Amino acid sequence: MPFFDLDPAQLAEVLGSEPNYRAKQVWQGVYGMLERPADLTTLPKNLRSRIADDPRLELSLSRVDRITSDAGKTIKDLWQLADGRQVESVLMAYSDRVTLCVSSQAGCAMGCVFCATGQAGFFRHLTRAEILEQVFHAAALSKHALGKRLSNLVFMGMGEPMANYDNVVAAIRVIVQDFGISARHITLSTVGIIPGILRLAQEGLPLSLAVSIHAANNEKRTALVPMNARYPLEDLMEALQHYRTRSNRRISFEWAMMAGINDGVQDAIELAGLARRLRAHVNLIPLNPTPAWDYPGSAPEVVREFRDHLGALGVNATIRANRGNQIAAACGQLQAQVSRRAKAVAKEH
Ligand code: SF4
Repeated sequence: MPFFDLDPAQLAEVLGSEPNYRAKQVWQGVYGMLERPADLTTLPKNLRSRIADDPRLELSLSRVDRITSDAGKTIKDLWQLADGRQVESVLMAYSDRVTLCVSSQAGCAMGCVFCATGQAGFFRHLTRAEILEQVFHAAALSKHALGKRLSNLVFMGMGEPMANYDNVVAAIRVIVQDFGISARHITLSTVGIIPGILRLAQEGLPLSLAVSIHAANNEKRTALVPMNARYPLEDLMEALQHYRTRSNRRISFEWAMMAGINDGVQDAIELAGLARRLRAHVNLIPLNPTPAWDYPGSAPEVVREFRDHLGALGVNATIRANRGNQIAAACGQLQAQVSRRAKAVAKEH
């Protein structure tokens, strides 16, 4: 059981005969000061070395690669898990916030045809500890490298968070309570897993939902996002309406702009119909090409026209800068790149 799987009582138990205040001190040092347990200089040296030798207090991620872009404002880390699987997280600094994009699974079973992670397939769910540890490292990085507090989280890395519901929600509760990140600053991205959306509505956590729509009629959407066959748009809209009413949180639609696929006038009209029903904000994201998806992203002027068209139809839409384009920041791409690099190196030797 690694450190981030422990609750305060379990931590006290692991520390055994240490005075009661030590557990609190370690907890505060890790979650509050963002220090590794074995690096806490506020602890006596012998306790630090005991902590360093105790497998129950180990961290479970090791960094395999880091790529920085956007003048140091986007930092993408590739992590190796204890079983050798790899996931990535991306830290993005803006003028008013620092956002971490977190992974919730190693791989993904949703099979969205344009996505590098979907193309690679599903390996396993991340544990609560593996999710929390991504936040821990990013919060420390943000503090030391950017001099700013990590303020926002988006579950938009590898994986479908609703498919790993229990671990994701358990991690979010700790993130809010112990890392002190407001639930209102946490966004969960989903392809539209209806049972998860309905369950989340009962949690009393005011999270924002970002729904990967990408096409606004069932035929086209099922071709791009196969889960649509199971949870078609009409049912999804009803579930989202329910979530919005219960949580009082805004829903946003994510729309990856693919040239000639979903960037036409008819697409804008259909999308506007759905977005108006939910008063959803639309984020337009020019798509990064991925290994098994040859279609380019829409040209910048097409993206702008599409946004204006939505505006004329009464829908607010924002064009999202594709942060880290040069560093393969679309989900799964760094992992794919590193695997390719590793294979090339293996070939050379
Ligand atoms: S886009 Fe998201 S949900 Fe779809 S395959 Fe990729 S990681 Fe999974």
